[in-house]
Amino acid sequence: LAIPGTDYLAKLNPEQREAVETVDGPLLVLAGAGTGKTRVLTTRFAHILMTRRAFPNRVLAVTFTNKAAKEMRERVSAILGRPAEGLWLGTFHALCARMLRRHAEYVGLTSSFTILDTDDQMRLLKQVMDAAALDLKRWPAQGMMAVIQRWKDRGLTPARVTPAEDSDYANNRARQIYEDYQSRLRALNAADFGDLMLHMTEILRSQPDVLAQYHRMFRYILVDEYQDTNTVQYLWLRLLAQGHHNICCVGDDDQSIYSWRGAEVENILRFEKDFPGAKIVRLEANYRSTRPILAAASHLIAKNEGRLGKTLRTGRNDAEGEKVRVVSLWDSEEEARMVGERIEQAQRKGVSLGEIAILVRAGFQTRSFEERLITLGIPYRVVGGQKFYERAEIRDAMAYMRVLHQPSDDLAFERIVNTPKRGIGDGALQQMHLGAREQGIPLAIAAERLARTEVMRAKPRTAMRELFDGFSRWRALMQREGHVVAVATMLDESGYTEMWKQDKSAEAPGRLENLKELVRAIGEFATLEGFLEHVALVMENDENAEGARVSLMTLHAAKGLEFDLVFLPGWEEGLFPHQRALDEGGTKSLEEERRLAYVGITRARKMAVISHAANRRVYGNWSAAIPSRFLEELPPGEIEREGGGAAQRARMVNAPSVFTHGGISSQRPARVIEAGAWEVKERPARAGAMPVGQRVFHQKFGYGRVTAVEDDRLEVDFEKAGQKRVLDRFVEKA
Ligand code: ATP
Ligand code: MG
Repeated sequence: LAIPGTDYLAKLNPEQREAVETVDGPLLVLAGAGTGKTRVLTTRFAHILMTRRAFPNRVLAVTFTNKAAKEMRERVSAILGRPAEGLWLGTFHALCARMLRRHAEYVGLTSSFTILDTDDQMRLLKQVMDAAALDLKRWPAQGMMAVIQRWKDRGLTPARVTPAEDSDYANNRARQIYEDYQSRLRALNAADFGDLMLHMTEILRSQPDVLAQYHRMFRYILVDEYQDTNTVQYLWLRLLAQGHHNICCVGDDDQSIYSWRGAEVENILRFEKDFPGAKIVRLEANYRSTRPILAAASHLIAKNEGRLGKTLRTGRNDAEGEKVRVVSLWDSEEEARMVGERIEQAQRKGVSLGEIAILVRAGFQTRSFEERLITLGIPYRVVGGQKFYERAEIRDAMAYMRVLHQPSDDLAFERIVNTPKRGIGDGALQQMHLGAREQGIPLAIAAERLARTEVMRAKPRTAMRELFDGFSRWRALMQREGHVVAVATMLDESGYTEMWKQDKSAEAPGRLENLKELVRAIGEFATLEGFLEHVALVMENDENAEGARVSLMTLHAAKGLEFDLVFLPGWEEGLFPHQRALDEGGTKSLEEERRLAYVGITRARKMAVISHAANRRVYGNWSAAIPSRFLEELPPGEIEREGGGAAQRARMVNAPSVFTHGGISSQRPARVIEAGAWEVKERPARAGAMPVGQRVFHQKFGYGRVTAVEDDRLEVDFEKAGQKRVLDRFVEKA
């Protein structure tokens, strides 16, 4: 009979138990996905407390996300049977911020220092670069920030940047700029995000008494996701562990997916060297996934060369589950529909929405799924990010469109009038507001009048005039060439797209992708008005719905999590593996993409559905998408292919061919592919198709009547949405 209070050990297999009970001395748990590494860490934490080896506040536990910290706190509490309080449990940054408050004076700050957000950081750095008379056009501040952040990731203070490590950015003055930036931060009693780790590590390095204090305090150190620590985090851990040597790190080299943020998987390899006599425990039984899921993931990751090599077998009794699905679809709309249908099916079978996830490679991919889920009334959340239409760049671009459509939209106009920066300052804005109020006219009209008079200062006046000339041009363009061309041109000519191209922050490429996706979305609507109305409805979607939701997130954000049913869409060359990885060439970045695929598949407990579309719309044009090479690397015996031969046919065309339908077209190339011909052909209306006058129902636009038929396209006069061209596959007779 298990002694009350120790039955938590009974829930472990012998290797896991060994890892939990070997409390003293350095320990590395090196094991594949789903083998219980996090469970070991949590149980170990509880075990230390239950056996009274240390008080709760004497254990330092590092997780990769705040969410993981919260889960670990809950699990420890559950094992203890009481709330766990006063714990040193959190992410590297959260823990460092807390420590730094106690010792801020060592780095010239006071304990009330502020942590700057990224906007403030950039503003400060620009000031510093301006003061150094650097040409910010030639050396954008964002690039400088990236250099500084890399140094911080590596634990290099300005004094530690050796000539060999210096960067040639900013005319070889990067190190000097870094130093100036740091002293400006000090003068403001502020720290940026990277400083939290950097300062604390520096203090531990240079202040033996502070270090000794922490050695006394932290008797045990626990680290999850060790493969993704960067150099400064590694240094910090090593310093803290030098006291008791009671450090336990768990990790999986196959899940190292943050090298682009400075993570060094070599830290795992160094563990034995740094901590002589370290014990290594390997876990081989996976308790998360069914056998086919595991087989698919293992087979795929075996293609990577730089691996430590681990065995992974299933530890579940009910392991023989369904095969991994690989579904081929025509385009992303069809892909979203497939995912929606399967979610509804699963729901009917009793699967909770909380047990379902859609994991994407790039943030922009969430849009089509969000729209589908909204249409179906399925609640969802975007984990670790914002819903598509709430993202800043999408809101900005939408504001441009609203002004294009409706010049009197004051809120929209105010949002874009100085985005990107055009030198229209607060003074000019006040003038506009005053004019608008006095004359009782919309802001944009007042602004336009001001822009034509001498009342306004020359610089903002010219900028305003350019903007208004732009809007008249884009409105004319919309009449001539349609809304897709007009919007794409507007975003380019207004300088908005350029603003993000100039931005060298890590998020900027994703924002540009989102903007492209937005233009794609517009192409799905006949008019700009229709699109704006659609988005307004989408945004209205009930936010406060209680209960379980489907999770949408990037593969990066999914690390450590698990779900019964996992969708992995968009497995196409250029999307996954991502184009940036392909452009970089070399096997290193490709191997990291493959590890991401491994992380993705291994999130699934019971069912994984991988999919790819044969066609993607690029700025209103269609282009054929080549199925991801990772699909070829899945074991044929463990997967089941579905959804026709779209993939096969797309593969026959080795170059991504662009469908030109006489310019921008919102027409799908489906028929063309089926005919095996790569140009548009006229085709008689098919027998049995919808006759003119037929009342129909369309999933997005509702009820309407067919007014014309052309091949597989129908002109429909919708009762709510007005005249639209739709594909006959998407309407039903009503
Ligand atoms: P990842 O590499 O994805 O972070 P992990 O190694 O941290 O995975 P856990 O999340 O700890 O794995 O465990 C995976 C799943 O297996 C969890 O649902 C966990 O509760 C379960 N599990 C772990 N060990 C056992 C065990 N001995 N018996 C039954 N279930 C277990
Ligand atoms: Mg884990």
